[in-house]
Amino acid sequence: MSESNMSGPLSAVVDTFDRPLKSLRLSVTDRCNLRCSYCMPEQDYVWLPREDVLTFEEMAVLTGYFTDLGVDRVRLTGGEPLLRRDVPQLIRLLLQNRRVTDIALTTNGILLADQAEALYEAGLHRITVSLDTLKPERFRQLTRRDEFARVMEGIESVARAGFTGLKLDTVAIRGFNDDELVALIEFGRQVQAEVRFIEYMDVGGANEWSQDKVLSQAAILTILSGHYGAIEPLPERGAAPAQRFLLRDGTTFGIIPSTTTPFCAVCDRSRVTADGMWYRCLYATSGTDLRKSLRAGVSADEMRALIQTGWEGRRDRGAEERKALEREGLRVGGLIGVEKLREDPHLEMHARGG
Ligand code: SAM
Ligand code: SF4
Ligand code: SF4
Repeated sequence: MSESNMSGPLSAVVDTFDRPLKSLRLSVTDRCNLRCSYCMPEQDYVWLPREDVLTFEEMAVLTGYFTDLGVDRVRLTGGEPLLRRDVPQLIRLLLQNRRVTDIALTTNGILLADQAEALYEAGLHRITVSLDTLKPERFRQLTRRDEFARVMEGIESVARAGFTGLKLDTVAIRGFNDDELVALIEFGRQVQAEVRFIEYMDVGGANEWSQDKVLSQAAILTILSGHYGAIEPLPERGAAPAQRFLLRDGTTFGIIPSTTTPFCAVCDRSRVTADGMWYRCLYATSGTDLRKSLRAGVSADEMRALIQTGWEGRRDRGAEERKALEREGLRVGGLIGVEKLREDPHLEMHARGG
């Protein structure tokens, strides 16, 4: 399938803080069928040129270089990944690589009902659906699209197709959905999904971000314990971003405290955009153009060396640095201004996959 060193010994690559290269978020498209205000608040966007978008074969080849250097988990994301035609074919290609032990998908759920079965048959291991509200009108307000019913159908289709371990990711925003945390956990229970609350991040196009909209992990726990009583933290799981908790009735949920308690110290993630730009951090403002090298016919050894050197030089800890700005009162608004985002669409959250 690829020129990757599938059977050779695995070289463990670590960065300057001794963090291994383990997980890859592969954005399959920068296009989206929603316009969530925390991610795509603008009326118009500059899209990646179609001819630059990697083919599935190119994505599989690039993934092979990453797995040669330690990656074993791949998450498909976007934009909305299911807008790209035939994602199951990409999954089949990626699973030909025996070093990929876990392949997951993050989706807004709109196109899921149509595709869940094909995704399951292709071998996809896990699905995460983003769901911020259970109120159709609020959904429309947040996303500027009237698609709530299709998201619900999508969520229901997941178990029917055979998947277990569904996750529902909710960006928790003060003054927007802080009154729905309990309802979301109850809904998760109904559909056999674990809910994970994500703290609102000041990244990419999230230019409506402000500190007072961040519903912190502490605030989330206060709201939930007011309803459920004592909440028990579960043991941490290495580099997994979510801290998991147990309710008295046995229900579990997670919180991803990316803003108040960043997990940069154990972050093993790489991000590749749909056109092959490689970023070592969600907050990084520069990356490595892997498409250019790949299409220029650079050899497999050189591609691996490029990635290895890039990772070994990694010093990124974007969320920690953003947090440090708070002390000086410099954390106001999103990471990057709208003008700069228009100049370089790679810096958008929807291009680099969240
Ligand atoms: N379109 C797909 C979806 O929404 O699931 C996949 C891509 S989306 C960029 C990936 C995740 O990033 C979603 O769960 C979304 O809620 C999250 N996200 C986007 N902007 C965010 C922000 N400013 N703060 C926290 N999470 C954000
Ligand atoms: Fe919303 Fe995901 Fe689309 Fe961003 S990429 S607007 S989070 S659905
Ligand atoms: Fe990893 Fe960067 Fe997120 Fe920190 S901010 S956890 S280094 S991606």
